[in-house]
Order: sequence, then C-alpha cells, then structure tokens
Amino acid sequence: MNENLWKELEHFALGCTACELCKTRKNVVFGSGDPFSRLWLIGEAPGSTEDEKGLPFVGQAGSLLDGFLTKNGFKRDSLFITNVIKCRPPNNADPTDEQKDQCFPILTAQLSIGKPKYVLALGRHAAEALVPRPFKSIKEIRGQIIQLDEVKVVVTYHPAAVLRNPRLGEIVDHDIQMMSKLIAGE
Ligand code: SF4
Repeated sequence: MNENLWKELEHFALGCTACELCKTRKNVVFGSGDPFSRLWLIGEAPGSTEDEKGLPFVGQAGSLLDGFLTKNGFKRDSLFITNVIKCRPPNNADPTDEQKDQCFPILTAQLSIGKPKYVLALGRHAAEALVPRPFKSIKEIRGQIIQLDEVKVVVTYHPAAVLRNPRLGEIVDHDIQMMSKLIAGE
C-alpha cells in the first residue's frame, strides 16, 4: 500500500465539503484500524458517538460488533473499519443518493489504495455500494462469498439492525465466522 497516497486521501477527506453533510458533522470519520489489513469492514455512516469521536463503530452497535469480532478470533486493531458515508447524516437518516454519489469516490479510492482481499459489508447501504447485482433485501445476498475482481465480499446485517432485532445476531455471528474460516483456509 502506498502510505503517502493514503495520507493524501485522508487529508482530502477530512476537509471534504462535497455534500451538505459537511455543514452538520463534527468530525469526518475516515476509518480506523490497519488499512494494510487483508480484511476490511464497511458499514453505512457514522452515528452520533462516531461523529463526536471521529471513529467508526464506537457506539452501541460498535460494542456489539466488537463482541462478534472477538468471538470469531478477530482483533479490531488488525482490521480496517470504515463506512460508505464519512459524515453523519443528521438524526441518523438514511443517506440520500446524492450523498452516496458524492461520498462513494472516497471509499473507492480507499479500496484502490488499501487493496483488501476480503470485505465484510455491514448492512444494505454497504452492500449496495459494493455488490453490483440488484437485490431486494440483505436476506437475498448475505452469507455468500461474492467475488468482485480481486476481492471476496461477504454481506451481513448491520449491527444496528441486530440491536433492533436481536434474533439477527445469530446470523451475523454465522457470517463473520464464515469470513474467518474463508481467510483461515486461504
Ligand atoms: S459525507 Fe462524504 S462527500 Fe459528504 S462532506 Fe462528508 S466526506 Fe464529503
């Protein structure tokens, strides 16, 4: 990975004013962990705690995610975690198509510099950003290994969905375990 390019991209993202979310954010949440990592986790957008701290997945959903990661043998610091949208949509609204169009090039640039081999896409917005084929619900595409060029993508539910519906926890745990076995087997 080219560290200088990565730093330039981070510098650009931290000053980004390409969409109206720049007016209400406290911090741009570029990502955390190790961008050299083979495995990246990509979620939707920062929530209020993430906006406060400038870090992804540090609120309630993040604690839940940490539990799934630890259970399946992953250390959070040795992965890279980011979101499709880098600034918080007010009131945790769904990101608009325009916001996604403006922000997605940052994620694309991150992926082209970091070149992860595996991506766990958390939730619908991450899946829509990464998986080119149409789908109606996460149920249709989760728990599969989707090969996209050099990257293997597994889609699962967002931990925030598990907070709303704890029964999804078993499924997310299964999908993260699947990713763990996939990496261990290669
Ligand atoms: S959400 Fe993305 S495109 Fe919009 S201001 Fe933040 S970094 Fe820029």
